[in-house]
Parts: sequence; C-alpha cells; structure tokens
Amino acid sequence: MARNTLAAAAETKTTPLGVCAPDDDVLLEASALRKAYGSGDSSVTVLDSVNLSLRAGEMVAIVGPSGSGKSTLLHLLAALDTPTSGTVYFEKKTLETYRDEAVAEFRNRRIGFVWQRHHLLPDFTAAENVAMPLLMRDSSLDSALEVAGRWLKEVGLESRMQHRASQLSGGEQQRVAIARALVGGPSLLLADEPTGDLDERNSSAIMDLIERLHRTHQLTSILATHNPVLAKRCDRILRLEHGLLQPDAVDQQAPSSAVEGEKS
Ligand code: ADP
Ligand code: MG
Repeated sequence: MARNTLAAAAETKTTPLGVCAPDDDVLLEASALRKAYGSGDSSVTVLDSVNLSLRAGEMVAIVGPSGSGKSTLLHLLAALDTPTSGTVYFEKKTLETYRDEAVAEFRNRRIGFVWQRHHLLPDFTAAENVAMPLLMRDSSLDSALEVAGRWLKEVGLESRMQHRASQLSGGEQQRVAIARALVGGPSLLLADEPTGDLDERNSSAIMDLIERLHRTHQLTSILATHNPVLAKRCDRILRLEHGLLQPDAVDQQAPSSAVEGEKS
C-alpha cells in the first residue's frame, strides 16, 4: 500500500459506492457514466452507471474480468471517447464543454496514457517515440529529443535511445510507452494493463517504476490490471463488474495489513 496517500485516503469520506465527498483535492470525477455500443437490438451497455472520485495524489487500481469495460472506462476518463450519458469532471470542469482543440490540448498536456497494447511506432527509435507528444505541440525536434532522452534515462533505457521500438523487448517497450505517456508533464496517469503482456519479474519491475514515477512526479494514477498482486500495491482497489464500479471486497477487508505493510 502506498505511502503518504494512505493518510489522505483515511481522511477521505468514502461512501459505500467509493465516491468521495466533494473536496478541493479532487482531481477527477465521473458521475453516472454510461457507455453503450451499437444501437437498437444490437446495443450493448458496457458501463451502466459508473461513479468515481479521485483525489490528487492517489493511485487507484481498477480490476474486473476481461470484457468488463476497464479499457472503455479509461478511454472515457482520458477524453479519448465520449460517454453515452453522464459526465467526467477534471478539476471540477466538465470535459464535454471543451471544444475540439481544447480536448486535444487536454489529452496532450494533462493526461498520460499507457495503452493496453503499447502502440509504439515500430520503425521509429525509442527517443523519437517518446518525443512524439512534444512534437505534436510544435516543439522543435532537437528540444523534443533532448527531453525524450532525459525521460528514457529516468526509465532506465539510456542505452536504448537509438534502438527502433521493434528491436526492444516487451519490458523495454513498456518503459518507452511509460516515458512517452509522461514526457509532456501530465498530472493524471492512466495505464491500461501496463503489465498485461509481461512475465512476473518484468511486471514487478514495471510496477516499481510506475510507483516511483507516481511519487516523484506527484501524479494521480489509475491502473487497470488483472494482476491482484499489483492491484494491492495501490492505495485502493475498485472493481468493475456488471457496468458498475465499486470498492473491491478483498481490499475493504484488509486495511490493517495494508498499514502494517507500510511500516516495513
Ligand atoms: P476490458 O478492458 O475490461 O477487457 P473493454 O472495455 O475492452 O473491457 O470491453 C468491454 C466490452 O465492450 C466488450 O464486450 C467489448 O467487446 C465491447 N467493446 C469495446 N469497444 C467496443 C467498440 N468500439 N464497439 C463495440 N463494442 C465494444
Ligand atoms: Mg482492456
């Protein structure tokens, strides 16, 4: 269980639905989010009524069976997709009210997204991949590559900067994807199964990295994960099932052991 946010979480007035009371520290909120794909008889409701309140500095895991809508939810929170109904608030402002350019700017500057399949450009170098979000802001190539280099160093890939993404191992590619997500200095990190394709050792190393970056860059983070060991390392666990997001029963039962763990 993570550190300084534990005390903050204890002060959070969490309701049975995992919704925190209104608070100035709330960075992200979702209210009655519904997402249905298709229309008429073929319509499928993936998210029924999702409520979420995330305080600045929290690291939250979203767990749930495959197909439960974890990726769908992360996409809505990142303004990569729009809900059928309901609202996402970022710093109390409704995302819906952003105009197209403002949404693009919001995604580029405020959100760091690690995709379920990392979506690196295989023929570009690690440095070029990481520089991409800065180039989209009209940074010069030299300065974007310089910042990208610093990030690759921070994720332990200093010696791989000039390698093409396709030449990197799965764990290295994921480090590049994390560096690319954070290069623009976002406040919110959304990681969709960041260890999904990795073995146990690499998963643990990637989680160590995410925890370190979360702390040192004062991020607020949501991780969708299948991995219960990784989920337990987050401040709280929310379970997505049958279109609803609720506190995970196992997480609820273990507050004392989590506090014990923090002491060691
Ligand atoms: P998870 O990430 O938990 O595995 P997803 O969010 O990827 O779940 O998918 C939830 C459900 O929504 C699945 O049944 C999936 O087939 C469906 N779905 C996801 N994206 C689309 C789409 N663009 N069109 C239609 N159905 C979709
Ligand atoms: Mg998914």
